[in-house]
Amino acid sequence: ATPTAFLVASGRGAQLGVLVRGPEALERLRRVDTVVFDKTGTLTTGHMTLTDTTVAEGGPEASEVLRLAAAVEQGSEHPIGRAVVAAARHEEDGVARLPEVTDFRAVVGEGVSGRVDGREVRVRRPRPSEPLPEPLRRARAAADRAAHTAVIVEIDDRPTGLLAVGDTLRPTSREAVHEVRALGIEPVLVTGDGAAPAHAMAERAGIDTVHAGVTPEDKERIVTALREQGRCVTVIGDGVNDAAALASADLGMAMGGGTDAAIGAADITLVRNDMLAVVDAIRLTRRTLSTIR
Ligand code: ADP
Ligand code: MG
Repeated sequence: ATPTAFLVASGRGAQLGVLVRGPEALERLRRVDTVVFDKTGTLTTGHMTLTDTTVAEGGPEASEVLRLAAAVEQGSEHPIGRAVVAAARHEEDGVARLPEVTDFRAVVGEGVSGRVDGREVRVRRPRPSEPLPEPLRRARAAADRAAHTAVIVEIDDRPTGLLAVGDTLRPTSREAVHEVRALGIEPVLVTGDGAAPAHAMAERAGIDTVHAGVTPEDKERIVTALREQGRCVTVIGDGVNDAAALASADLGMAMGGGTDAAIGAADITLVRNDMLAVVDAIRLTRRTLSTIR
């Protein structure tokens, strides 16, 4: 594209709330044929709410398990962590009386852990067919049916609690997916979340191709494999777990409300968090960059 075309397109892009890092990014946006969407915080609002706390027999009661889980989640910037902390604070009448945590550790795409009140507490993703004590197994099945995300609370290496959190699609996600398809671009959902919530959200958004339960490294591998098929791939994400995939895409797009890691790894920032802006921006580049050059 000529410098003039770039200036025109990037100026209009800014009006749409699409901040572009350079001329090459705009040119690649014009050629995109595959959009890889992250789920939590991208297709969905990322404002998760705790919907259920279930505990195993013989362990601490539900409010105590939630309190311990929230204590370690205080150090997390993941939507699940924020939901758990908000729920625990709510139970305590909004007063922050969560216990101190030492040895805090966060593993991207996996969970958090730390020492609380002399116990080793971990909040993490469940493994695909992990055996769980009965009340937790049933709670996990119920979360799956409700398209909620289930995480396990381990205390001293024993699965002691199961927390379910729910999220909703962004208001424009479904329309944006539809419009993306109308432009001849294939939408794909790639998420670290489990199969049940992933497929339920994909169906609500109108996406047929789903990769669920993937690690941040898998996200990157999926993007690389698509590119090796000769596709021009854009990734849209918000999390620390999306940073590698964003960087390996032909074009990375970060949600404006996303993490610094995602924004730093992306070529484009969607300032208004509006998925329809992506569609407008692609249309814009197809119009401007082909006519002005
Ligand atoms: P997504 O692709 O949906 O944004 P992530 O890759 O960030 O998901 O996380 C994958 C899974 O790892 C989550 O569904 C959850 O089970 C687990 N996980 C990640 N971070 C946390 C956290 N802070 N607390 C509990 N579980 C977490
Ligand atoms: Mg996300």
